[in-house]
Parts: sequence; structure tokens; C-alpha cells
Amino acid sequence: MRDGTVRAGTVRDGTVRDGSVAVWPLDPVPRVIRRFSVGPFPWSPGHRGADLVAHDGQSVRAALAGIVSFSGRVVDRSVVSVLHPDGLRTTYGPLSPAVVRGQRVEQGEVLGTVAPGHCAVESCLHWGALRGESYLDPLSLLKALGRPVLLPLLRGSADLGEFRPQLEDGLGVHLADP
Ligand SMILES: [Zn+2]
Repeated sequence: MRDGTVRAGTVRDGTVRDGSVAVWPLDPVPRVIRRFSVGPFPWSPGHRGADLVAHDGQSVRAALAGIVSFSGRVVDRSVVSVLHPDGLRTTYGPLSPAVVRGQRVEQGEVLGTVAPGHCAVESCLHWGALRGESYLDPLSLLKALGRPVLLPLLRGSADLGEFRPQLEDGLGVHLADP
């Protein structure tokens, strides 16, 4: 495995500089129905976030602690944005917001409940991340998640099943077969 170690506080693309690690905005760990993809230019077509399978009314949680920088409607749907230290912002929608602008939220705190409207077939939450005007893959915020801790547990796990691609994507590694 290349690039095997992540130290707390390591500065990487999408990794929070103080060493904090994001949690999934849905509990339990959701299936990713559509991944982040961007072209070479800001105006290139793409998908500037990750779509997580959810059910309508499911709680949406702050991936990291921060301050609500936006809570309201954008065009035809409601969105919540949370500003984190170091200028990182995470966005969540569509949802029915339970927080207001300026409110401080802890990691994992409920921001609202999933509302329909983003994915055609299944209900989903669009999770986005930006630093300044640059979109990041929000799954990369989960990356520091336990390369030192989680992988040995995963290697010993008999059946990763459908979670394998998602885990590999989130961790940016190829997991060894059990
Ligand atoms: Zn989306």
C-alpha cells in the first residue's frame, strides 16, 4: 500500500488542518449513490458533492463542528452550510433545516431532516465541501479515519460486502482481501 500513514494534523487535500476528521452526515453509514466528479475548470460539468442514500425525514448531522453560515432556500430546495475552522465549508441538502444562520453546531449535531428532490430514483442527501470557491470531495474529509486504527479491523473482517468499494473510496486505499 502506498502512502500508508496519516498523522494527526497532516495537511492534505480535503483534510482539515487541525487534524479533525469528519463523520458521515447520516447514521448508519450510508451507501454512496453518486460520487464527486469535476472537470478541469470551474465551469466544467460534473457533480460537486456526493449523494448519500437516505430516507425522507432521516436526520442530517454536521460532519464537523462549526458555525451555520447558511440555512435556507436555494432555488427550489433548502440547504444548510456549515463553516469550519480553516475556511472549510460543508453543505447539506435538500433538507428541512433545524438550525439557523450563526448557530454553533457540534460534530454530529442534527442540522435538519432529509427532504426529497435531489436524486431521481432513491431519496438522497447531497453532501458537498468547499475550501474558498474550490469544491472538494466530501468523502476525502473522512480519509484520516483510521488508517492506523480501522484497517487492521477491516482486514480481519470476513465480509465487507457492498461496503468495500465505499470504504476503499472513502479511505483512498485498496483493501486487502480477508
Ligand atoms: Zn448530488
